[in-house]
Amino acid sequence: MARYTDANCRLCRRELSKLYLKGDRCFSAKCPIEKKPQLPGQHTISRRKLSEYAIRLREKQKLRRIYGVLERQFQRYFTIAVGQRTIPTGTRLLQILETRMDNVVFRSGFAPSRPAARQLVNHGHFTVNGRSTNIPSYSLKPGDRVEAKERSKGLSILKDGIETVKGRSIPQWLHLTPEAMQVIVQNLPLREQIDVPVQEQLIVEFYSR
Ligand code: SF4
Repeated sequence: MARYTDANCRLCRRELSKLYLKGDRCFSAKCPIEKKPQLPGQHTISRRKLSEYAIRLREKQKLRRIYGVLERQFQRYFTIAVGQRTIPTGTRLLQILETRMDNVVFRSGFAPSRPAARQLVNHGHFTVNGRSTNIPSYSLKPGDRVEAKERSKGLSILKDGIETVKGRSIPQWLHLTPEAMQVIVQNLPLREQIDVPVQEQLIVEFYSR
């Protein structure tokens, strides 16, 4: 399976925006965006005024990078979102991304970042409804139960994550039982429950051009 393997901070610098791809470091003074936001490369120039097309392209790239999805899969998600006519396309696109298994593992506090969550899922530390699942893009539905495997519950990354999450809230559309290291998808998230800094309408316009 193809995936991005270059430095994560480079992606944030490309978007001149914090995408929170490295867990605790993103909240520290070591974050390059906090220190000096600039485009990647040795001889960077400040960003010129962007064209209408470039503004939409950057918004699409930003969302894609936040969730760690490659272009082809992102396009597939958009096609699915367009087919769902009862919900605005942009909202549906965000719901599809939010209900990916790696994102739910991240949102539940089992991992400090989406890339870390993706690795945990890849390494087979979780089950869905009691069945071992190691596909980060696995699409969860309301009622699905994600749980750490018994042999994985002692992992320090999971235990630390759960300790951290006890002190903060997780999205309302998820129900977490920290002791059991189990989370249930209660319903699909509403737009206001998805705190990603993107204007999804620009992405819809990008693909509709
Ligand atoms: Fe992005 Fe986090 Fe790196 Fe900052 S530390 S640039 S938010 S990945």
